[in-house]
Amino acid sequence: MKRLPKRGRYDEETVFQILDKGFVCHVGFSVVGQPYVIPTNYGRSGHTLYLHGSAASRMLKALSEGVPVCVTVTHVDGLVLARSAFHHSVNYRSVVILGTARLVEDPAEKMKALRIFTEHVLKGRWDDIRKPTEQELKATTVLALPLEEVSAKVRSGGPLDDEADYALPVWAGVLPLETVAKNPEPDALRKNDPPLPEYLKNYSR
Ligand SMILES: Cc1cc2nc3c(=O)[nH]c(=O)nc-3n(C[C@H](O)[C@H](O)[C@H](O)COP(=O)(O)OP(=O)(O)OC[C@H]3O[C@@H](n4cnc5c(N)ncnc54)[C@H](O)[C@@H]3O)c2cc1C
Repeated sequence: MKRLPKRGRYDEETVFQILDKGFVCHVGFSVVGQPYVIPTNYGRSGHTLYLHGSAASRMLKALSEGVPVCVTVTHVDGLVLARSAFHHSVNYRSVVILGTARLVEDPAEKMKALRIFTEHVLKGRWDDIRKPTEQELKATTVLALPLEEVSAKVRSGGPLDDEADYALPVWAGVLPLETVAKNPEPDALRKNDPPLPEYLKNYSR
């Protein structure tokens, strides 16, 4: 961040756009001196990021005990191909969140958080599916991380070569990259499936 300050962004809109574009984060925390970085899903509502998982999860257990956490979200938007090796880069958008997560214990708040989590990944899904039973809710840990100490960093645009290198006979530019949804594959064990829901047609983020 210090080396390339022009890429540092802190405005809420940029942070929320980056968080809402994705649903996979990496959760960094340390337990007895051993750092872990674990990939997991998330959902956002307002100034809260929700994480969820099995009540047996070591990650969620550690975080619910108040271990400080660092969550990162990254989108790779392209390969930036310069004329020199030195100026090659990547177009990206990323967010880093620091803080301490809160265990969501109230069943009503937990259910609400799971709805937010599900809707964040696939909008429209929650209304279609069977909701968690009391027992399933107990077996699920939900954590809320406040979006208070947050930074965003964005790199976009073409390569920035040294003046003398522009004359070199080397292809330079950007190879844009994105994650795309392919055709939905129906479950082979389906018995009573309705037609493909609207929210699965042309899914994109
Ligand atoms: C895209 C994605 C989304 C996921 N979403 C969720 C989610 O929403 N909720 C959830 O609970 N889990 C999710 N997982 C699984 C998650 O990464 C952990 O494996 C899981 O939460 C168990 O964590 P734990 O701390 O209990 O690991 P443990 O069972 O304690 O793991 C033991 C050891 O195995 C290794 N390990 C753990 N997880 C991984 C991994 N993913 N890859 C490689 N090594 C690993 C680590 O060294 C760890 O210390 C997701 C994984 C991926 C890749």
